[in-house]
Order: sequence, then structure tokens, then C-alpha cells
Amino acid sequence: MSEFKCTNCGYTFSAQAPPKECPSCKAKCEFVDITCYIPDCQDKGKDDRLG
Ligand SMILES: [Zn+2]
Repeated sequence: MSEFKCTNCGYTFSAQAPPKECPSCKAKCEFVDITCYIPDCQDKGKDDRLG
């Protein structure tokens, strides 16, 4: 699972792949992969610097 953030409304969610439409704002928008891969944030699963 990866963490994605909607660049339109800022909604973050976990998914295997970014959806066509944002679950929150229903817009076809860009999604940023904010999954954190470094050990420092393994408990949170996402990178606060990106999200
Ligand atoms: Zn959105």
C-alpha cells in the first residue's frame, strides 16, 4: 500500500495505486505519492515533509 495525497484538496489516503478520481473532492486530479520509505517514519507510513 502507498500513501497518496490529492493535490487539489489535500486529502490523503492509502491505496495500491492512485485512483482516477479523488475519493474526497471527486475531481480528476494529480496524486502525489507521499509514502515514507525511510526508517524514521515507519510508524506513520507517510512523509510529513511531502504530505
Ligand atoms: Zn481531492
